[in-house]
Amino acid sequence: MKLLKSESEFYKYLLFMRTSPILKMGCLLSDNDMTVITAIVTLSITSLVGYLLCRLKILTNELSRVREILKVSEVEALRADKKRAEEANRAKSLFLATMSHELRNPLNSIIGVADLIQHCHNKRDFDRYLQVIQTASKSLLELVNDVLDFSKIEADQIRLELQPTNLYELIEHLYNVSYPIAHNKNVELTYQFSNDVSTWVLSDSKRLKQAISNLLSNAVKYTEHGTIHISVTLDLSRQFEETQTDTQWIRFQISDTGIGIPEDLLPHIFDYYTRAPEVCSKRLEGWGLGLAISRRLATLMEGDIEVQSRVAEGSTFSFIAPFQTCPSQTQAEATTLCEKRFSGACLHPISSERKRILIVDDSDDNRLIIRRFLSEKQWEVHCATNGQEALNLVLKRPFDLILMDMQMPQMDGYEATRKIRELEQQNPQKSTPIVALTGNVATEDIARCLNAGCNGHIAKPVRQQQLLEIVHSHLI
Ligand code: ADP
Repeated sequence: MKLLKSESEFYKYLLFMRTSPILKMGCLLSDNDMTVITAIVTLSITSLVGYLLCRLKILTNELSRVREILKVSEVEALRADKKRAEEANRAKSLFLATMSHELRNPLNSIIGVADLIQHCHNKRDFDRYLQVIQTASKSLLELVNDVLDFSKIEADQIRLELQPTNLYELIEHLYNVSYPIAHNKNVELTYQFSNDVSTWVLSDSKRLKQAISNLLSNAVKYTEHGTIHISVTLDLSRQFEETQTDTQWIRFQISDTGIGIPEDLLPHIFDYYTRAPEVCSKRLEGWGLGLAISRRLATLMEGDIEVQSRVAEGSTFSFIAPFQTCPSQTQAEATTLCEKRFSGACLHPISSERKRILIVDDSDDNRLIIRRFLSEKQWEVHCATNGQEALNLVLKRPFDLILMDMQMPQMDGYEATRKIRELEQQNPQKSTPIVALTGNVATEDIARCLNAGCNGHIAKPVRQQQLLEIVHSHLI
């Protein structure tokens, strides 16, 4: 018996069987069919076994080839993983190096100038030092906000909060903020709001303002002469494809005649930490997060961000996104809301009776600053260093307003607020307004304060104007 070695041999045998004299004989010798059938069956089985062994051999070969391929792709996958890990590590190191530099710079100014102030007897020097502290602190605050936003975006934690937004007011506000800086540099700043763009749209105004503000502040920062123009128009190409009648694709475009961006950098300009060499060499302030944040916000809003730029000629950045227009009734409601909000924010005259305010904060510095912010001639100000102390003071005599830090040792602000509210339920009396002072500014953090029983929220670092507005609004 012979085993077949290949598929082609099998086909040869089939041909042989078809033409074999045995078969032919089988047809002729029908009386002696047992011998013929046995011969045919033996031959067929031999061929079949040979064929199967041959297929098995082919499959085994294929299997070992697949194994080889898998081994290679496993190695490639491991290599790709390693490369990704190295890139992540590089990005982390770059991030830490950038942050360390950006944090140390303003801190260095603040600490250095604070030392100088101690021995300063000259009013002009004093004012100058003060200005350095203010600029450095502002820069630190911006950095912290950007880094927090960046990490939230990376962790996919930013949710858009849509509300009726007056786009015209939003642009005017951004223009008013940038105008003095552009004016000081002798750069002309203009804006134009197209008639066909709906004034009221549904949007997350805070995030929209942040995205456009990044583009505008860059234009101001990177332009030394000429003009910066803001335009708000319908994006006709996208609008044409839009099927929803109440949706407008709006293009916020900022064009400048500034330093421009090198061509090879343009494809990466929206990546984190990308900065032009000229910008770095001139040591212009910044940390390469703004454009990346704006692009992520554009994606979140299902829009897009574009750039055109030429070195020494200028740049044009566009933020384009679809917005649902507000029906007229919502517009009216939103207008009233807005007016209410504005009227609530203005300073109300206070009554002649001195109201009692309790500041609860574990930080000596914070208590001192807030005390000073609240000119004590107008109010009777008391302090507590934690929730338990605050509770003891409230039990002795109620206050007209409590400014409550939320994170404190022993008893935090959440527990203290809850306990004060429980006390108020036992002895029905006027409920004391409690305003949370906290560094946690996310919507869920604010909601946590309100759930504990707070009436309002002020984000740290506390600004005097904002504090006074809130205090007045609760003490009229
Ligand atoms: P930052 O301005 O803090 O460096 P951004 O992410 O906002 O960070 O911008 C990244 C880089 O893009 C800048 O460092 C600068 O090189 C370049 N850039 C952005 N906007 C402009 C502009 N309007 N003109 C010239 N260069 C710009």
